[in-house]
Amino acid sequence: MTSREIRQSFLDFFASKQHRIIASAPVIPHGDPTLLFTNAGMNQFKEVFLGTGKRDYTRVADTQKCIRVSGKHNDLEEVGRDTYHHTFFEMLGNWSFGDYYKPEAIAWAWELLTDVWKLPKQRLWATVYRTDDEAFELWKSVTDIDHSHILRFDEKDNFWEMGETGPCGPCSEIHIDLTPSANASASLVNAGNPQLIEIWNLVFIQHNRTATGRLENLPTKHVDTGMGFERVCSVMNAMDSGFRRPASNYDSDVFTPIISRISEISGRKYGAGGEADIAMRVIADHIRALTFAIADGALPANEGRGYVLRRILRRGARFGRNLGLHEPFLYKLVATLVSTMSHVFPEIKEHQQHIERVVKGEEESFNQTLDRGLEIFEEAAKRAQGLHSTTISGEDAFRLYDTFGFPPDLTLLLARERGMSVDEKVFGSLMDRQRERSRESREAEAETHISGSKDRIRDLIKEGTEEKFRFDGYDLYEEEVEVQSAVENIVFALNTPFYAESGGQVGDTGRLTIPGHQLKVIDTQKSGKVNVHILASPFEWPRDIGKAFASIDVPRRLAIMRNHTATHLLHAALRQVLGAHVHQAGSLVAPDHLRFDFAHFARVSEAELSEIENIVNERIRENIRLLHHRDIPFAEAQKMGALMFFGDKYGDKVNVVQFGEFSKEFCGGTHVKSTGEIGFFKIRSESSSASGVRRIDAVTDDFAAEYLRIQGKTYDERVEYAHSLAAEILKLWESLPADQNENLPMTRDAVSRLDRGLSRFEDATEKGEVAGTGRLGPLFEGLQRKFHELEDRILRLSEMKKALEKAAAKHHLDSALSDIDELVRKGIPVDGFKIVASSVQAGDMEALKSIGDTLRARIGSGVGLLAAVIEQKIALVCVVSDDLIKSKNIQAGKIVAAVAKVVGGGGGGKPHLATAGGKDVSRLDEALKSLEGVVRGML
Ligand code: ATP
Ligand code: MG
Repeated sequence: MTSREIRQSFLDFFASKQHRIIASAPVIPHGDPTLLFTNAGMNQFKEVFLGTGKRDYTRVADTQKCIRVSGKHNDLEEVGRDTYHHTFFEMLGNWSFGDYYKPEAIAWAWELLTDVWKLPKQRLWATVYRTDDEAFELWKSVTDIDHSHILRFDEKDNFWEMGETGPCGPCSEIHIDLTPSANASASLVNAGNPQLIEIWNLVFIQHNRTATGRLENLPTKHVDTGMGFERVCSVMNAMDSGFRRPASNYDSDVFTPIISRISEISGRKYGAGGEADIAMRVIADHIRALTFAIADGALPANEGRGYVLRRILRRGARFGRNLGLHEPFLYKLVATLVSTMSHVFPEIKEHQQHIERVVKGEEESFNQTLDRGLEIFEEAAKRAQGLHSTTISGEDAFRLYDTFGFPPDLTLLLARERGMSVDEKVFGSLMDRQRERSRESREAEAETHISGSKDRIRDLIKEGTEEKFRFDGYDLYEEEVEVQSAVENIVFALNTPFYAESGGQVGDTGRLTIPGHQLKVIDTQKSGKVNVHILASPFEWPRDIGKAFASIDVPRRLAIMRNHTATHLLHAALRQVLGAHVHQAGSLVAPDHLRFDFAHFARVSEAELSEIENIVNERIRENIRLLHHRDIPFAEAQKMGALMFFGDKYGDKVNVVQFGEFSKEFCGGTHVKSTGEIGFFKIRSESSSASGVRRIDAVTDDFAAEYLRIQGKTYDERVEYAHSLAAEILKLWESLPADQNENLPMTRDAVSRLDRGLSRFEDATEKGEVAGTGRLGPLFEGLQRKFHELEDRILRLSEMKKALEKAAAKHHLDSALSDIDELVRKGIPVDGFKIVASSVQAGDMEALKSIGDTLRARIGSGVGLLAAVIEQKIALVCVVSDDLIKSKNIQAGKIVAAVAKVVGGGGGGKPHLATAGGKDVSRLDEALKSLEGVVRGML
C-alpha cells in the first residue's frame, strides 16, 4: 500500500463506523497561548472533554498535523538519530465524545490493524494501565491477540494526562515487533528499542484531575486515540519486505521523494549509514515542520514559536554542511513536499511561494554567519582540548549565540558530535544577564504581572463562566460588573468593559471601585474566553463583595481605537497599492502607535508609501461610518467577503468590522465610530521584520502631530525635548493632590524610570556603544534603533503629559466649581445685585468659561469677573445675569474690555458672557478691583 492509500483506508474504515471525517486543525494553535504547536490530535477537542465546548457529532476521525519540539512533548533530539521520531508528523485519530467506549475502541483498532491492513497478529503487543482490569479482559475477549502479549504498565507509560489538571484516564497502547523473526521478548516493550515500537495509543478519558490532585469521575466517558501515520507506513513497508530490512519511516514513500531530492541536490547517496544518512534524515524531517508551520501562519523570529522555527531551520542548514551544501537548499525541497502532500493539505500549495521565500531568506541570513561560526566553534573546541577539557566554555557558546545566531541546541549538537559538552550553567547565566539587559532597556512602562500561570487562572475560573461571560466594552467604557473571583492581583467578572489583549490590540487599563477602595487595573488578559483584570498589586478581596464599578482609561482606549481602525485602513490600502497577495502576518495596536506586519517580498518604495498614506488619509477625511456586524455566523461573514487572518481559528459566531466598501475584516477589536476620529495618519517606518515579511509602523492623531514636530530635531535636541517633557510631567504630577495622583495611569516611578532610561541612552551614545549585529552596517542600524527608541519614548512621554494635563484641568475645574458658592456669598452688594471678582485656577480659556457659566447660574442677579493665569498671560471672563442686561443694559463685553485695559489687553463678546486677555500679570489684582468702579460707571 502507498502512504496515500494507508491514510485513506484509515479514514474510510472509521467512516464505515459512522465517524464524521474532518480536516486537520492548523498546526499553529492560534487560539491557545499555552501551546506553541499542536502536539496531538486531541488538542482541538480539549474543550469538548472539559465540557466547555460542544460539537454536532459524537464520533469523529482525522489526520492531524502535529509538531513536537517544545514543552511537554519534545522529540527534537531523537530526530534523525532514530528513524521513528519526527518534529512534524501526522497523527491519525478517532474519537468518541460520550458515545462508544473501551470495547469498540479496542475491537476496531484490532480489526483495522489485523484484518484491513493484515499486520501479523504474532507481532502485536498490547499494554494496559496497571489497574485497568476492564481493558485487560477486553483485549482477551474482543480480539484474538496472544494473551501473553497483554502487559500491564504503570502511570509513566499507561496513564495519560493532558496537563497538571483536566481530563485524563488510563490508556492502552499497541506496539509492534519489527525483529526479522518476530521473536522479541516482553522486556523490549516500552524500552525505547527501535525493534519494538509503539504505533497507536488508545486513551480512555474517564477522570478529571482537580487542582488539589484528586481524581474525579467524569459524567461521560470519551475515547481519544492517536496513531503515528509515518510509523504505520514504515511498518507496512517493512511487512512488504517480509520484515527482513529494519523498518524506517524514511524508507516509506512519505519520505523517499524528499530524500531523493536531497540526494540530487547534494550528489550524496542515502543508505550508506553514518553521518550523511543522519543529515539527510534530519533535513527531510525539518523541512516538513518548517513548511507546515509557515503555511499555517508562523514565521521564524527571535522569541516564542518563531524562535523554535528558527532553531529548526538553522539545525537543518547546519546538517546541510555535513553534505557539503553551502548555498541555501532547504527552500528547494518545498516543491517536492507540495507535489506529494498538497492533495491532503492544500494550504502548502496555496502558500508555496511564501514558504519558499521565507525559508530561503532565513537560510541566506544564517549562511552569512554559519561558516564563520563553525570556525569559531572549532577554535573553541581546540581551546577546550588544549586545557584537557571536554567542555566548550559557556562564554564561547554565548558568543556563538549572540554574534553568530547559533541556537544553544545547535552548539550542543556540534559538541556532542565530538563527544564534548557545553558549560550550560555559565551559558545560562550569560543569557539571563542579557535578558535582564534587554528587559531593562525595553519600555519602562508598568509591567504586567500575573501571579501564577495561565493554567492556574483557568482552574480558578468556575465552570460555566465562559458561556456566561460578556464583553461590554464595544458600547460601554464603565459599568457595574459581577465579580466572580479574585485571587492576588487578578480579578474576573461575568461582564466587563475592559478589552483583553488579543488580535494585536493591547489590553485596557483603568480601575475597579468597591466601597472604600479604588483598585488600579494595569492590564487585561484573556484566559480562554474570559477577560482577566490584572491589578497593580495583590488585593485581599472582601468576601461579601460581588459587585464592582469598572471604568477603563477612556483617553487611552480612544487612542487605541483610532490606531486599530487605522490598521484596517492601512491593510486595505496596502492591498490596493501592492496587490491582493498582501496579508496580515501580525500586528500591534497600542495607544501611541501601531505596527502592521504583512507578507510581501520587496521593500515598499517611497512612492508607494506616500500613496498608501494618502489613501488612508483620504478615507479618514471621508469620515466613513463604522458598520459593526456582531455575532454573525461565520459563513455569512465569509459571504460578505471579509478578510480573515489565514490559519486562524474562528468560532461559529464572528464579528466583522466594516468601513464602507473599502475595508471589511474579521475582527474582535474595538474601533472608532467613524474614520474622521482618527484625525491624521502618518507612517513612521517601513522595514523587514522577517524574510518575506515587511513591517509598517505608524502613528495617528496627536501622536502623528508630535512625531512631525520632532522630525526636524537633531538627536541632541530630541534628548533635550524628552527631558523637558519629563520635567513638565513631574511638575503636573506634583500639582495634583495625593488622592488623585494615586489613580493616574502613570506613576512618578514610571516617569523617573523613563528619565533614567534617557540618561542611560545618552551614556551609551557618548561611549559610542551600539547594539546589534545586523548585516548592513551594524553601527548605522544601532544608531538608527536608538533614534527610534528615543522617538518612542517621546511619544510615550507626551501621552503621559496629555493624560496628566487632562487630570490637572479636571481637578482645577472641580475645585473652582466647589468654591463658587463661597465666592457668591462674599460678593459685594451694589444697588440690589452682587458683584463678584476673583482669580481662579484654570488650564485653558474653555475651562475658565465653564467656571464662568457656573458662576452666572449661581449668582442670581449680578456681575461676575474671573481671572486666571494661563501660560504666563491673563485670561478674563465676565458674566452678567439676564435681568441686569434687560433692566440696566449692563453688558459683559463692555465690562471685560474696560477691565482688560488695566492689564494691557483687550477683548469682548456677548452681553451675558465675554472674554479678554491681558499681558501684565503683575496688575491682576488691580484689574479685579477695578470691576466695581467699571460697573458703577455703567449704571
Ligand atoms: P513515543 O513513546 O514513541 O515517543 P508517545 O508515547 O510520545 O510515543 P503518544 O503521545 O501516545 O506517543 O502519541 C500517539 C502516537 O503518535 C504514538 O503512538 C506514535 O505512533 C506517534 N508519535 C508520537 N510521537 C511521535 C513523533 N515524534 N514522531 C512520529 N510519530 C510520533
Ligand atoms: Mg514521545
